[in-house]
Amino acid sequence: MTVELICVGTELLLGNIVNTNAAYLAEKCAGLGLTCYFQSVVGDNEERLTMVLNTAMERSDIIILSGGLGPTEDDLTKEVAAKVCGKKLVMDEHSKKRIEKFFAQRGKEPTENNWKQAKVPKGAIVLDNDNGTAPGIIVETKNAKVILLPGPPNELIPMFEESVTPYLQKLTKEVIVSQTVKICGAGESEVETRVIDLIDKQTNPTIATYAKTGEVHIRVTASAENEKDANKLIKPMVKELKSRFGNEIYTTDVNTTLEKAVVDLLIANNLTFTCAESCTGGMLAARLINVPGVSDVIKSGYVTYSNKAKRKILGVKKTTLQKYGAVSPQTAEEMVKGLKLIAKSDVAVSITGIAGPDGATEEKPVGLVYIACMVKGNITVKEYHFQGNRAKNREAATSAALILMRTCILEYFSKMTFGKK
Ligand code: ATP
Repeated sequence: MTVELICVGTELLLGNIVNTNAAYLAEKCAGLGLTCYFQSVVGDNEERLTMVLNTAMERSDIIILSGGLGPTEDDLTKEVAAKVCGKKLVMDEHSKKRIEKFFAQRGKEPTENNWKQAKVPKGAIVLDNDNGTAPGIIVETKNAKVILLPGPPNELIPMFEESVTPYLQKLTKEVIVSQTVKICGAGESEVETRVIDLIDKQTNPTIATYAKTGEVHIRVTASAENEKDANKLIKPMVKELKSRFGNEIYTTDVNTTLEKAVVDLLIANNLTFTCAESCTGGMLAARLINVPGVSDVIKSGYVTYSNKAKRKILGVKKTTLQKYGAVSPQTAEEMVKGLKLIAKSDVAVSITGIAGPDGATEEKPVGLVYIACMVKGNITVKEYHFQGNRAKNREAATSAALILMRTCILEYFSKMTFGKK
């Protein structure tokens, strides 16, 4: 079944607001197994909206419109949709009462034009709006289903989740279930190469790779008559991916972030943590501190940006800075050793690098970063070459630090287990 999105609003055309509704609706529809070939943005103009809607109804099964359901003169989505679908607008008593109640609860009187919002195309399905006054509307014609939703995301999203999703699920008569396998450390092309045989012969479930900074997500999606059957199809594929990627997979839960996985690892092993950051300027500490529960493990985080700070706070030797420079494996190592002395944590991480655009030399280009990680006295120092601008390099260095921490902790414990045997 095909779906087409039409977002209405001159503000969107002028770039005054970002079309987040389109991204939201497209993702949700894909998750429901609907195929979207077309999306349009059109201003608050009767003639052009009529043209776009007529075209959409000729080529798509379901058309979702957002915006233009307000009470003012320039809100004309409903009027156009009614005309194009050949329906009269009639007063919907239920919506009228809800509008009255909405205003009464706020101690206000509705204005005359608010009643315009209670009018719906004859025979339409009306969707209650718990967060505003414009009801959502579904008009069913011989060839298409036309769904009208209010523009404000805080109204559109709950309405889509509560009313539109069950409606679409009934239409498609199938359930789409996805599971995301999150891999860290390997690039997208490497991951794709390692699953290319699965991609080539995929039917149901399908698998798709998505590149993120320092990570690749593989989404496994199955369609079936019910959720249980869809999960049955997904399970062997996820098992296969686990056998191929092993420890490189940090989670199979879509809501778990890399930083959360790292914090969970620290908590599970009762490890305290501290860090010293130069080019990332606190981004590593900030990402970890975003995770609820981190206070059990994090001790401190230092931003040691200047050479003086590296010397004074972390005790990096002047001779090391002079001989090898601030961006060097030797400095990264001394930073982490300094952390161990001042914070006495089980895990310590230091980051030093050239984020750009300035500061590069021929031997030390923009994007060169050294990260040191110490787990219970065992130090690993790694060199990285990132290829982005300042913001991207800092983001990539932060993700790399999280991945290195995770790898070093896992290696430390696997060696311990091995040693015991
Ligand atoms: P209202 O009842 O508030 O008038 P409406 O259905 O008429 O809602 P619009 O007037 O088109 O919707 O838009 C209202 C507001 O909703 C916009 O100012 C904007 O903040 C937000 N909005 C509208 N369309 C989008 C969109 N496609 N993406 C993100 N936000 C949007």
